[in-house]
Amino acid sequence: MSTTAPEKHEFQAEVKQVLDIVIHSLYTDKEIFIRELVSNASDALEKLRHLQLTEKTIHDDGLTLEVNLTTDDTANTITVQDFGIGMTRDDLVENLGTIAHSGTKAFLNAVKESGGANESLIGQFGVGFYSVFMCAEEVKVYTRSWHSEGTGWCWTSDGSGSYTIEEAEGVRRGTKIVITLKEDAKDFAADHRVKSILERYSAYIEFPINLNGEKV
Ligand code: ADP
Ligand code: MG
Repeated sequence: MSTTAPEKHEFQAEVKQVLDIVIHSLYTDKEIFIRELVSNASDALEKLRHLQLTEKTIHDDGLTLEVNLTTDDTANTITVQDFGIGMTRDDLVENLGTIAHSGTKAFLNAVKESGGANESLIGQFGVGFYSVFMCAEEVKVYTRSWHSEGTGWCWTSDGSGSYTIEEAEGVRRGTKIVITLKEDAKDFAADHRVKSILERYSAYIEFPINLNGEKV
């Protein structure tokens, strides 16, 4: 699938700190990662909807503005896909390799102030995208920006210090996040478990959400 060798990057020091806390925390509401990923998907769709008002050429225009989740309890994966704005290679480095999220900054400051990792701070401040590493053994982000020029990319990480980026073919506009679940988080590969989580807050999302092909 790749046409270039994977390029290895180190996470920014602050991101490493956040990941270290997130991965080793005993935080119990691990399901928040689903809410964070769906909310990012919704933000990306909203941005695309705005671009459609002003831009004449949008790659893969015509894709439905929706969020699609799929679970696979044999492979132990959960996938979150949106047809939003997507990310370029530079966007990936900037958005997923450094701390973009103000809530994550506030989280780190609170950790410093309280003199150590405190699980309750995760729920209080939110750690955005990085919350996925509470449950993920490996995360693959396939993404393709809305710009007409460019290509698809695959970002891969296990959350331990570094990530790789490589070119990927056949990626539709938007972002598809494939999460291979940790042993103790395998329940998130079960349709009914994810359905009950989505039902609790899908009403706050403006775009259709489908789980394994059925509207939630
Ligand atoms: P926040 O959503 O508060 O900005 P996150 O940690 O949740 O913080 O996400 C970091 C950034 O990564 C986002 O601001 C966005 O630029 C990018 N991002 C994350 N998920 C997606 C997505 N599905 N599509 C496009 N960009 C995304
Ligand atoms: Mg977010």
